[in-house]
Formats: sequence, C-alpha cells, structure tokens
Amino acid sequence: MRAVVIGGGIVGLTTGLALRRAGIEVAIHEHAPELRAAGAGLGLWANALAVFDDLGVGEQVRAIGKPGEMYFHDAAGRLLETPEFGVEDHRFLLVHRAKLTDLLADAVGRDNIRLATGFAAYEEHADHVTVRSAEGGEDNADVLVGADGAYSAVRAQLVPGTPAEEHAGHHAWRAVIPDPGPTLTEDRLILGAHGCRGGYVRTYDGSVYWLVNQFTAPEPTGTLKQQALERAAHLEAAGNHGVLTELIAATPEDRILHNRIMLVPPLPRWASGRVVLAGDAAHAMSPHITAGATLGIEDAALLGRLLTPAGDVPAALAAYEADRIPRYAHAAELSAAVEHAPTPREFARHYAAFSHWMITPPANRVRT
Ligand SMILES: Cc1cc2nc3c(=O)[nH]c(=O)nc-3n(C[C@H](O)[C@H](O)[C@H](O)COP(=O)(O)OP(=O)(O)OC[C@H]3O[C@@H](n4cnc5c(N)ncnc54)[C@H](O)[C@@H]3O)c2cc1C
Repeated sequence: MRAVVIGGGIVGLTTGLALRRAGIEVAIHEHAPELRAAGAGLGLWANALAVFDDLGVGEQVRAIGKPGEMYFHDAAGRLLETPEFGVEDHRFLLVHRAKLTDLLADAVGRDNIRLATGFAAYEEHADHVTVRSAEGGEDNADVLVGADGAYSAVRAQLVPGTPAEEHAGHHAWRAVIPDPGPTLTEDRLILGAHGCRGGYVRTYDGSVYWLVNQFTAPEPTGTLKQQALERAAHLEAAGNHGVLTELIAATPEDRILHNRIMLVPPLPRWASGRVVLAGDAAHAMSPHITAGATLGIEDAALLGRLLTPAGDVPAALAAYEADRIPRYAHAAELSAAVEHAPTPREFARHYAAFSHWMITPPANRVRT
C-alpha cells in the first residue's frame, strides 16, 4: 500500500508518520521549497499528546513543550472559575510550531518528503489514484490524503464549491519573543471588552508567546504593533498591570504575525473512494478554541488505524468519514457557544466544556 499526502504542515506530517507506523509507504508532497511553520506557539491538548505517544514521539514532543493550564482572568485580574470542570480539562502543552514541524519531519523521514512539489489535480481509478503536480510530475498511489490546509486544492476537486471563507471581523496577532527577564512571574490569559482576548505564556525555553484576538473587529489600521496594542488596552483594566502591553511594545514589528481567520464551511463529504481530507483542509475552524491542529492530529491517527497495508481503502475512508463528520459538527456547535458567550464568565465556562468534550471519551464525560 502506498499513500501520497499533500501538505507538509503539522497534520500532513502526523498523517505521514501514522501511515508509516501502520506499514504503509508514504510520499508527502509540499509545494513550498522548505518546510515552514510560522514561528509562534501552539497549544496541544491531551488527545493530541495521546496520539503522539501512540506514534512513539510523545516524549520528544513533551521535551519541546511547556505544560500550561487554560484558566482565564477578566480584565480586572479576577480568575474566572469553572468549578464544573476538573483541572485536567484545562491542561495543555505549549510547543513551538517550527520545532514541532522539525521533529515530525525527522520522525517521518526527510527522504519521504518531496519539497517544491505542488498538487495540481488527481485522477481516481478503481485500483489507484494518479496525482499530478504543478511542476508536471505524476505519482501513483493507493490513497491520496489532502492535508493541504484551509485553501486546499484537493478539497476544491473533491468537494467543489467549498472555498475557505473569512471569519468576518476576526483577527489574531501573536509573537514569540526572547526571555524578558524575571519580571514575568506567571502566565495569564485574559477575556476583556469589545470581543478581545489575549495573554502571555512562557514557553519551555523561557521565551514568551503572547497573543491578542478580537471578534467583530473594525478594519485594523496602523502598524501591527499599534493594532495589537489597541486591543491589549481592552484587556488591562485595573488588575492586569500592563504586562501584555509591555510585551507587545518590546516586540519588533517584523516578529508580529497577523492573521485574518479563514474557515472551511461544513462539508457534505470528506472522502471519495481513494481520496480523503484531513486537518484544516477538511475543517479549518476559528482558533479561539485553540484546537484546530489538535483535532487534525486526531484525523491523522484515525487514518493510521483504519488504513492497513492489505486493507480495503474505500471501506477505510468511508469509516473515517462516518466518524469525523459528526465529531466536527459537534465541535463547531461547542465552538460557536464559546464565540457567542455573552460574558467573560460564560466564555470561560463554554471553553472548559469544549475541552472537556474534546479530550474525554464519551463514557467518562461529566458534562456534554
Ligand atoms: C492564530 C492561530 C492560533 C492557533 N492556535 C492553535 C492552538 O493553540 N492549538 C491548536 O491545536 N490549533 C491552533 N490553531 C489552528 C492550527 O494552526 C491549524 O489547525 C493547523 O496548523 C492546521 O494544520 P494543517 O497541517 O492541517 O494545515 P497547514 O498548517 O495549513 O498546512 C498545510 C500545508 O500544505 C501545503 N500546501 C498547500 N497547498 C498545497 C499544494 N497545492 N500542494 C502541496 N502542498 C500544499 C502548505 O504549504 C502547508 O505546508 C491556530 C490557528 C491560528 C490562525
């Protein structure tokens, strides 16, 4: 059995690793000339860490991560408690994206990754699929996995008419900056006025990841730093001491990343006989729940369990789709409840409800 995976992002690489562990030959096609991960932090939840444990890289991932707890404060510095949920529902691991990408590429085997190879189109046949690259090459496989992100060209062919849509008014600014010294004594995530959220978290090597998001933002103007500072002001009423503002002010403009948020609409299907979608290609979601990559890592693990060297590919992909579509429909519902929470306290409660649901097997859930 041979698989071609389109996309060398976190989900494509994890899929490659899961398939290789299942005994399947893998070629990852990445259109960029090198593997790039925008240099900011990524929160991984217990379900993603369990996948990495199963794939034999859990310890290595923990070694490039710092454990954190997703508790929110309001702009006055008060902790927003969620007594209905346990401490495990708040725990995540903060990793550096570029380091995770490197680690996964090494685990997959760099020889199995073809850089500067852009997907153009596929032709599906009864017993194989032919993949054509933008550079004019051709590759044949038993299965094609589209892990090519929110703007997926594989999805455009598999499910036409489903372009990524902008999450209107939602913007995110973030950066990782070097250790600012001992003045930063704790991590903090803050829910403030005007749909703003943000905060700062130390990473495993002492550097700091800060982020600011806003829903229903007016069109940003000024430099990225000015845009982020304007939002941080809504997060730092009396109790939050201006630390976030200081961190943003100390960040060089060219280290600040700004994203408009792109969403993939709910898809009627994720697979045909030998072609399947995974990660953001299938379900780019609003990152206010910081779980898109985590959920994509689940997709990779499931493909690795269902596809076997001598197995029936269409049956495996049908089983994958039957598992994933309802899980994402529910993820989208819970995510919308967080987004539309009327108060910071409700936001914190819905957020914990989401993570509890995501990381807890159905039989063990205390809340749904
Ligand atoms: C501000 C922000 C914060 C976030 N925070 C978190 C978080 O804390 N935790 C979390 O779990 N998730 C988070 N997410 C979501 C997470 O970043 C994404 O869900 C995840 O990175 C998606 O990975 P992917 O591999 O599916 O797609 P991508 O990372 O988009 O990778 C797709 C790859 O495919 C390649 N590609 C595209 N087109 C082609 C083509 N035609 N041919 C070949 N290659 C192609 C691209 O170059 C790229 O390498 C956040 C997102 C944002 C925007």
